[in-house]
Amino acid sequence: MNPFVYIRADSVAQAIREHGADAGSRFLGGGTNLVDLMRYGVDRPTRLIDVTRLPLAQIEALPGGGLRIGSQVKNSDLAADARVARGYPVLSEALVNGASPQLRNMATTGGNLLQRTRCYYFYDVAFACNKRRAGSGCSALEGQNRIHAILGQSNACIATHPSDMAVALAALDAIVHVEGPRGARAIPLTEFHRLPGDTPNIDTNLQSGELVTAVELPATPFAARSHYLKIRDRASYAFALVSAAVALDVQAGTIRSARVALGGVAHKPWRATAAENALAGQPATEASFNRAAEAALAGARGYEHNTFKIELAKHTIVRALSELSERTV
Ligand code: SF4
Repeated sequence: MNPFVYIRADSVAQAIREHGADAGSRFLGGGTNLVDLMRYGVDRPTRLIDVTRLPLAQIEALPGGGLRIGSQVKNSDLAADARVARGYPVLSEALVNGASPQLRNMATTGGNLLQRTRCYYFYDVAFACNKRRAGSGCSALEGQNRIHAILGQSNACIATHPSDMAVALAALDAIVHVEGPRGARAIPLTEFHRLPGDTPNIDTNLQSGELVTAVELPATPFAARSHYLKIRDRASYAFALVSAAVALDVQAGTIRSARVALGGVAHKPWRATAAENALAGQPATEASFNRAAEAALAGARGYEHNTFKIELAKHTIVRALSELSERTV
């Protein structure tokens, strides 16, 4: 591991100021991904700004309904919060399906959003990887690509985003609050992460020096009727092959509005608006869910080892919606 300077920030303003002092700065939350990246030599920060002591570890009810989650709230605390479990079950379910209890006790809300892909070649500096070193090539295109993307990918990168939490947040219309050298702003979760295009080395639409301070969950008619289903190779401590975060607002058997987001299939949490449009106004039946799943995967493309994900994603959507429907209709 390379030498680095460690600074513990006491305020958001200090953290942003310290970060701006060196282009090699990184904000340090729970460190559950960044420390691995440093050990593997994938990232070599010269300055770590510890933000875990900032006053950003509260979950607060918003005046008009909804919740504001501080960026330093631990994943385990967020999953266990009664307001989240009752009002946003898709988020609680996604969190407890992520990583291990030990990791959830360390990982923060902001860090979870910013974790990097688990593409094998990204972590092995002996291989070409456009995300690690721009222009070097993509070893996954012709390599082991079983866990890779089937939607929104480019010829430069077919990596997937590994977060479960972010998929739930995409379905919940969450808003990410950030502060940086040029002030504060809010970014819809669905616009926070990027598709790879020609610049897969850039994961998010954060500007230089911006710190995630909170995530806001709006009050919606469907949030309490939501569900997360994760399909993976083993029952715990594995990333999603495919996951689905779904929410339904159903009145008298008819779907008024729906939310469908997919994990494990794209470079970002994949909001399946085609599926949502296919569900609106339809009866909450398996036939409707099947049509929505077909719409969601209409543009999917697989590679040598991951084409199975296209059918798996369809089945995951149908099963998630069916399980939710049985709970709520
Ligand atoms: Fe790198 Fe992306 Fe290709 Fe993986 S898929 S090797 S992260 S460029």
